[in-house]
Amino acid sequence: LKKAKEYPTHSVVIFNEYLQSSLIRKMKIEKELRHALANDEFDVHYQPKFCLKDDSLVGVEALVRWENEHLGKVGPGEFIPIAEQMGLIYEIGECVFRQAVGQCLNWNQWLDEPISVSVNVSVLQLEDRRFVGMIEDAIQQIGIPPELVELEITESVAQNLDENRITLSQLKQIGVKCSIDDFGTGYSSLNVLEQLPIDTLKIDKSFIDRLNHRISQSVIETIIHLCTVLNLEIVAEGIESKNQADVLREIGCNIGQGYYFSKPLNQRDMSQLLRNYSKENKKRVARPS
Ligand code: C2E
Ligand code: MG
Ligand code: MG
Ligand code: MG
Repeated sequence: LKKAKEYPTHSVVIFNEYLQSSLIRKMKIEKELRHALANDEFDVHYQPKFCLKDDSLVGVEALVRWENEHLGKVGPGEFIPIAEQMGLIYEIGECVFRQAVGQCLNWNQWLDEPISVSVNVSVLQLEDRRFVGMIEDAIQQIGIPPELVELEITESVAQNLDENRITLSQLKQIGVKCSIDDFGTGYSSLNVLEQLPIDTLKIDKSFIDRLNHRISQSVIETIIHLCTVLNLEIVAEGIESKNQADVLREIGCNIGQGYYFSKPLNQRDMSQLLRNYSKENKKRVARPS
C-alpha cells in the first residue's frame, strides 16, 4: 500500500480510507451472516397499512430485523444485498416468510376483519427454482388463505421479464398476490405494469416526499389513473404527515403506510396495536349513530 503523501490529492486518500473501512465492515457482516440463521438471529417486525378512505387497518408488511452479538443491529438495507451476494437470501427469505405468514394467521384467528401480510422478496429468491414450490408448501402447511398473502418485489423483476412473468403467473395460480415495491425508482418502463400479472403497485416514498410539488403530484395522479385502468391496487409508502395522507386520499390513493400511521413494530407491539384497534372498532360499531 502507498503512503498517504505519495497520493496526488488528499481526496484520494479519504476515498481510499472510506473504501477500506467499508470493506472491513462488509467482511464482518459476511462472517456473522454465515451463522445468523442457525443462531436464530433474525426477527420480523410489522408495519400496518391503512385504508385512507375509512382508516381501517387492511394489512401488515413484514420487515426483517437482524441483531448480532458482535455487530448489534444491522438494517436490511445493509445486510440484504450482502446476503444476496453470498447466496443466503433464499434461506433467510423462507424463514421470514414462514414466520410472517404464521403470525398473520394467528392474528386473523381473533381479529374481526381479516388482514393481509406482505413479505418482501428479492428478485434472486423469485428466480430460484425452488421458490414457487416453497411458497405453495408453506401456505398449505401453515393453513392461511393464500389471498391474504402478498409478495413485494422491486421493479428489477422486469429485467428478466419473460421468465419472471411465468413465475408470477404460477404464484397467481397458488392464489397469492404480488406487488411491485418502490415503484418509480428503478429503470423499468410503464409497460411492465400491463406485462406482469401483478395486483398492487407501491409508490415509492421519494414521490410522497415531493407531493407538495405540483409536478410530482401530477405524476402520482397519472400513476393512480393508470392503475385504475389496469385494475391495480395502489399503496403509498413512507407517509410521514397528515397533509400527505390528505392529499393522497383526495387524488384517489386507497392505501397508505408510513411513520405518520405507525413505525414497524415488533410482534408483541403489533399484537397490542391490533388488540387496541379491534376494541376501538367494536366501540365505533356499538356507538349509536
Ligand atoms: P421496503 O420494502 O420499501 O420497506 C420500506 C422501508 O421504509 C422500511 O425500511 C421501513 O421501515 C421504512 N419506512 C416505512 N415507513 C417510513 C416512513 O414513513 N419514513 C421513512 N423514512 N421510512 C419508512 P427497512 O425495514 O429498513 O427496510 C428496507 C428495505 O429492506 C425494504 O424496503 C426492503 O426492500 C428490504 N427488506 C426488508 N425486509 C426484507 C425481507 O424480509 N426480505 C427482503 N428480500 N428484503 C427486505
Ligand atoms: Mg416492501
Ligand atoms: Mg418500498
Ligand atoms: Mg424501499
